[in-house]
Amino acid sequence: MTGPPITRRRFLAAFFAAIGAGVAGATVWLTRSDGGTAMGTTTTIPPPATTVPSATTSTAAPTTTTSPAVTTTSPAVQLIDIVCRDSWGAVPASGDYTPHTIDQITVHHTAVVLGANSDAPGRARQHQQYHQSLDWPDLAYHYLIDANGHVYEGRPVAYVGDTATDYDPTGHFLVCCEGNFNEQEVTAAQYASLVKLVAWGAIEFEVDPAVIGAHRDLATTTCPGDNLYPLVAEGILAGDVAVSITNHELGLNVVCGSAGNELIAAIEDGSA
Ligand SMILES: [Zn+2]
Repeated sequence: MTGPPITRRRFLAAFFAAIGAGVAGATVWLTRSDGGTAMGTTTTIPPPATTVPSATTSTAAPTTTTSPAVTTTSPAVQLIDIVCRDSWGAVPASGDYTPHTIDQITVHHTAVVLGANSDAPGRARQHQQYHQSLDWPDLAYHYLIDANGHVYEGRPVAYVGDTATDYDPTGHFLVCCEGNFNEQEVTAAQYASLVKLVAWGAIEFEVDPAVIGAHRDLATTTCPGDNLYPLVAEGILAGDVAVSITNHELGLNVVCGSAGNELIAAIEDGSA
C-alpha cells in the first residue's frame, strides 16, 4: 500500500480543486444524517438542497483547510468491518476472473427492493447464484452494502466485475448498495458505509475524486436508482468521501470464522 498521507493529500487537493466549497454542506449533511437515528431504521436522508445552512458550516472548518491540517495531524484509524465470503455463504468462483487495475469507482444498486434487512445475507447469496447463472464467474460487484450498513465481501478487487449493460467495467471498483433506490430510500447507515468504503477505495487505488461515478452515467440503466443517483451525481458523496479521508485513515477489518458467522446469524435474526 502506498503512503496514506501522500495519497490522502493528493486526493484532497484534487477534490478541492474540482469541487471547492461544496464540501462544507456535505459535511454538515452527513453528520446530521449519521447521528439522527439508530442503525437500521428506514430514516430517509434529507435532500442535499436543504443541507447547506450557513450557520452550521463553521463546524466543518477543520476539513476545509488543505494540506497543513492533513499533513501535521495523524488522523484516527477507522476500520470498516467486511463480512467475509465464507460467512455470508458465498460459493467459490465458477469460472476464471480477469485481472485489472482499478482507476475509478462506480456506485450501483441491486435493483431488488430489500424489505427487512434480515433478508440481506440471503439476497447476497441469491445475487451470486443469479450472476453465476449468467456465466459470470462470481458476484458482479466487489462489495455489497446492506440497509444496516454491513459490508459483504464480493468479487476480489484485483479482478474485473461484470455487467449486463453496455459499458466495460475494467478498472472500476464496483460498490453496490442492496435495494432498489427507484422505490426505496438509502438508509443513513447504508450511506455511511458507502462513504467509508468509497473513501477507502479512493485512497487504496489512488482514484481521482472526479471519477467517483454512478452506473447510470456509463450505460443505459437507472442504476443506482433515483434516490441514490443524485448523491453521486451532485458531488455529495465525493464531498463526504473527502471529509472521511481528511478525518480518518481507513482500513478494512475482514470478519470471518466464528465472528463472521455470528454476525451473519445476528443480521438474519434481526438483531444486527
Ligand atoms: Zn449498476
